Amino acid sequence: MKFVIVTGGVLSGLGKGITASSIGRLLKSRGFSVSAIKIDPYLNCDAGTMNPFQHGEVFVLEDGGEVDLDLGNYERFLDVDLSSAHNITTGKVYRAVIEKERRGEYLGKTVQIIPHVTNEILLRIKTVARESRADIMLIELGGTVGDIESMPFLEAARQAIIEVGRENVVVVHTTLIPVLSTVGEQKTKPTQHSVKELRAIGIQPDMIVGRGNRPMDKGTREKIHQFCDVPLEAVVSAPDVSSIYQVPLVLEDQGVTNYLIKRLNLEPRADELPGWREFVHRVMNPPRAVNIAVVGKYVDLKDSYLSHIEAFHHAGAEAGAKVNLIWVEAEDIEKSGADNHLRKAQGVLVPGGFGERGTEGKIQAIQYARQGGIPFLGVCFGFQLAVIEFCRHNLGHADANSSELNPKTEHPVVDLLPEQKGVTDLGGTMRLGSHPIELKEGSTAHRLYGTLRINERHRHRYEVNPDFIAEIEKKGLLFTGSSDGGRRMEVAELPGHPHFIGSQFHPELKSRPNKPSRLHLGLVKAALSLSLRAQ
Ligand code: GLN
Repeated sequence: MKFVIVTGGVLSGLGKGITASSIGRLLKSRGFSVSAIKIDPYLNCDAGTMNPFQHGEVFVLEDGGEVDLDLGNYERFLDVDLSSAHNITTGKVYRAVIEKERRGEYLGKTVQIIPHVTNEILLRIKTVARESRADIMLIELGGTVGDIESMPFLEAARQAIIEVGRENVVVVHTTLIPVLSTVGEQKTKPTQHSVKELRAIGIQPDMIVGRGNRPMDKGTREKIHQFCDVPLEAVVSAPDVSSIYQVPLVLEDQGVTNYLIKRLNLEPRADELPGWREFVHRVMNPPRAVNIAVVGKYVDLKDSYLSHIEAFHHAGAEAGAKVNLIWVEAEDIEKSGADNHLRKAQGVLVPGGFGERGTEGKIQAIQYARQGGIPFLGVCFGFQLAVIEFCRHNLGHADANSSELNPKTEHPVVDLLPEQKGVTDLGGTMRLGSHPIELKEGSTAHRLYGTLRINERHRHRYEVNPDFIAEIEKKGLLFTGSSDGGRRMEVAELPGHPHFIGSQFHPELKSRPNKPSRLHLGLVKAALSLSLRAQ
């Protein structure tokens, strides 16, 4: 097995994950199977308890792992399903070491960061690598070289490089190439310093990817090549681009794939990049456009809804439309009404969420879409709120609510999952991951998926209360998807409305280039046909 280790220098937020995912895509396009490990040097065991405002969305894997959103990028770029073992955090490592110590497995030794923590890291990397059976394993080291938190991981990486042999590993260091606005000159000193830091740990990079708003000048590349001992052909520029899906092509055009293949002593087996190029072409040249409003409460940090954004890119590419997302803060609807914020929308998405803030605004948005015949998609919390909205305005239960939001309501039309009663820990305790769902023959969901049995990922603690189902369906909101032998409601839709559908599961998580989420595609197509009719 070959390894590509991606580190970051200078500052965080450089898009290391996209660089790593893009390298993976390029290697995959030459016929190799590629998998990925993301290392997050924080003490949380997983991303499940993290506020989306700080870290962006929590991505959920097939096995229910709640992980860093970069894992979503890996799944989308590599078109693979990863498991939670592919996200290694300091929390997971320390927890394992401490549990071993309590069991007495260290046989009286003093337990230390080196070698016990580093060995645990190595063990995890090796286990995942072996089980993945991939030709090439990407390892992205989160954080920035020089951070105290990253030290044990860099030390483990150094040992791993010796163990598997230098010829089988490529170290890619991602840095920032700032430009001094006064003179317009690209500066390499921060890169030189972070490479020096990396070398002090005992790791020499083989490739440097320089981020910046414009491509690196020849002189800049030459300087980095000289000062950092990296071959000139491996000093690569990754300027800002309008779509992340362009990044593999930007790297390919600088000869990155050929360099990596040569450096790792591999024989290319295929050339499948044209398919990716064609997808990117469709993303970049959409013949039409459509406006979709996203009504949420974390809209100031777009990363909170990253998988939805990507699902709309995939759906737009398939439908031949640029999807303009109108970001609407739910509380603004509470202040000034839905019409003020949704007038330009040809479709409305209410995504997942937790807690009370903004829910009344989301409910108003749903009512606006339902009554105005505007295509609507509700995901998870959005699906639950659509049921609540329907019960309030069509069943006459003015206090209908979720017991998450109002534990005292007389009409808890959304209620705690029975198995959640008594659960007190917040981390990893929701109904998580992939579960099979049965769809009803002839439903909109069936039409969109083209099959009656689907698998989609979940992350929730509440569900539609079975006590109210008959009453709701009698008034016209139909449950057309269910799981666990029909016990849990998974899809609701409103016949007679141009397009009104909600899902308890998260279709955005499995959306991929050329395989868009069926529900996002359904919304985009419905919004397009609505806008055509309006013209
Ligand atoms: N808060 C809701 C629940 O826990 C919805 C969760 C979500 O949207 N991911 O069921």
